[in-house]
Formats: sequence, structure tokens, C-alpha cells
Amino acid sequence: MQDTFKEKGLRKKLVETLREKGISDEKVLRAMETVPRHFFMDSSFISFAYKDQAFPISSGQTISQPYTVAFQTSLLEVKEGERILEIGTGSGYQAAVLMEMGAIVYSIERIKDLFLFAGNLLSSMGYHPYLFWDDGYEGKSSYAPFDKILLTAAAPFIPEALKMQLKPGGLLVAPFGEGNLQKMIRLIKIDEHNFTQEEHGNFTFVPFLPGKR
Ligand code: SAH
Repeated sequence: MQDTFKEKGLRKKLVETLREKGISDEKVLRAMETVPRHFFMDSSFISFAYKDQAFPISSGQTISQPYTVAFQTSLLEVKEGERILEIGTGSGYQAAVLMEMGAIVYSIERIKDLFLFAGNLLSSMGYHPYLFWDDGYEGKSSYAPFDKILLTAAAPFIPEALKMQLKPGGLLVAPFGEGNLQKMIRLIKIDEHNFTQEEHGNFTFVPFLPGKR
């Protein structure tokens, strides 16, 4: 796939839109200006890649709206070299944005086709995350603790395993709740047993599903 002046120009415009909508973390904006979102989309939706909208990918899943990616990534306060666990690899776009910011990414996807798609695409683009085909509810204890954890599907509850795999001082960002609307929450791990919880507005996500297939 090509990344021409046309797509680069559309990306610049998208980033301006995100700025107008209140995204102010320059590192996030720079990463999103760099990563070609159209590479991650189903061929029938490529012409919409730089609209600020979510779109269907394969297996009935979606690539998150750019504003949502920018918002969640801003809440993570990503720093170079941090180890970040993402639950819900999907297309791999969010993982690419995190890696573009210098993070080391571990990402879990329950649907095998998406796991394979994201792995092939990301490595062809020169990104090398640790990807797992597994149930993200369990996290990845063998690689824990993580500096940050990001959930990219709606969580009816925050699994204890994930809270345990976060470093003290670390942040966990997740769309929390069932139904059509989730609250974006950020947990800050104070010490082994204590968290503070912040709320950052309402969003709509596809739900987390247990197991793998
Ligand atoms: N971050 C993605 C968007 C993800 S959509 C991107 O940038 O494109 C949410 C993803 O979570 C879907 O791909 C879905 O299959 C996955 N998912 C749902 N339940 C899961 C679970 N228990 N473990 C791992 N992944 C899960």
C-alpha cells in the first residue's frame, strides 16, 4: 500500500481536527500524523481513513475513532521506553501509535484472524510489538509488571489480573461499563493494594468477550 502526499495531507487535516476537539498532547498528535491509518483499514473503507470516525474491520470488530485513540493515548501519558500492555489489538493501529511514541508494546487479541492480520501488517511497516492470541482478561503475567495498561474494548469490570500486573505508580485506562455508553476511567496504582479512579467522559466501544477464537 502507498502513503502518498494525498494521505499525508489528509492526516495533517485530521490532526488539526483532533487539536480543535481538545487533544493537546503534541507527542500523541505527532504520532498520529506519522502512522498511516489507511494501512489498517478494510480496502472498502480506505477513502474514509482520515475522517474522525470508527470503522468496521474484519470479524465484526472496529478500528476506534481517531479522537478516541488520541484521547486514550493522552490519558496514558506515554513516555519513551515504557512497557505498555494493550488489550484488544484489533487492526493494530493503536499499537502502532504507541510504538511511534517510543513505547514497547505488548498486545493481546482474542480473534486469531485479527491477531495474524495485525502481526503481518505491523512487521511489514517496521513495528515490532509482542503480540499474543489469547484472552486479554488474564493479562500477561510472564511479562508483568507494566508501566501502563490500555483496554480498547468495553469492560464490564476491570479484571484483578490486570490491576495486579500494573506497576505501582502506573496507569490503567479503560472504557468501563455495559450497554451503549461507557465511562472512560483511569486508575492510578498508588501501591500494591490501592488505586485512585478518575472519570473522563463517555464513549462507545465494542464489548470485551471472554475466551479466544
Ligand atoms: N485497538 C484496536 C481497536 C480494538 S476494537 C485498533 O486500534 O484497531 C476491540 C478489540 O478487542 C477487538 O479486536 C476484539 O476482538 C478484542 N477483544 C475483545 N475481547 C477480548 C479479550 N477478552 N481479549 C483480547 N481481545 C479482546
